[in-house]
Amino acid sequence: MKRLLLVFLPVLTLYAAHAGSVPPDDGKLRIICFGAHPDDCEIQAGGVGAMWSAKGHHVKLVSVTNGDIGHWRDAGGPLAKRRKAEAEAADQILGVTCEVLDIHDGELLPTLDNRRLITRLIREWKADIVIAPRPNDYHPDHRYTGVLVQDAAYMVTVPFFCPDVPYLKNNPVFLYYPDPFQKPNPFQPDVAVATDSVIQKRLDALDALVSQFYEGGANGYPELLPSDPAKQKERRAKVRGDFEKRYEAQAQRFRAKLAEFYGPDKANSIRYAEAFEICEYGRHPDQQELKKLFPFFGE
Ligand SMILES: [Zn+2]
Repeated sequence: MKRLLLVFLPVLTLYAAHAGSVPPDDGKLRIICFGAHPDDCEIQAGGVGAMWSAKGHHVKLVSVTNGDIGHWRDAGGPLAKRRKAEAEAADQILGVTCEVLDIHDGELLPTLDNRRLITRLIREWKADIVIAPRPNDYHPDHRYTGVLVQDAAYMVTVPFFCPDVPYLKNNPVFLYYPDPFQKPNPFQPDVAVATDSVIQKRLDALDALVSQFYEGGANGYPELLPSDPAKQKERRAKVRGDFEKRYEAQAQRFRAKLAEFYGPDKANSIRYAEAFEICEYGRHPDQQELKKLFPFFGE
């Protein structure tokens, strides 16, 4: 008996760690967001992610690469470790689950292996909603994250593709983050959410991504890092202020869509927003289902 237990113990431990990372089937919504780098999901869906999480829904943010060239001074393993720790700290503030895949930054390709990887992650999370960048974003890693999620959008329902992970009987709703790119077609919002109630929390989360914003990431430079504490405070305030302006601009850009969901009076008082476009692949929710998937409009 003892020997049998010893043989099975490693298997049991592995199973427990794996099962622990997937939330229970408790009827709550299950959302998985993909970004190319350990900051993309936090920028694009941190607000609505925190709002879902506050209502007990299950949100996971996945960075498809490890971000190991995303800095002007540091690179490689030490930077990957630092960025993973930063993303974990940010996601803890947002109340969401964090995963950073160990693929080199700047080298993501839409391979069959990566299609399987993304398919498995969506299935394991038993996602109702999957969010990703559009495949015409400026950065190759963003583009291929978009392509990989599109490639998985139908395959998650196909039983004999990756038969090691149970397929999804209900195709999730796939959504895109907003971007400014016009060709071949501009982003068109299908749903817009006021994130005023979580703006401080989402700015705190972005504040935790020090290497990217405070230090400037890949395009930063030494002069961004003042040694004088007063100037450091100024730098932090500037980073926070710039993000605040970004979400204000989004509320302005998506005001008409906010009005559809909140009514025109309420929409005019909304200061910060996030918006998403429904991907043509995956399930197509009508307005009524969108209100169930985004249970925030009566507030
Ligand atoms: Zn990125």
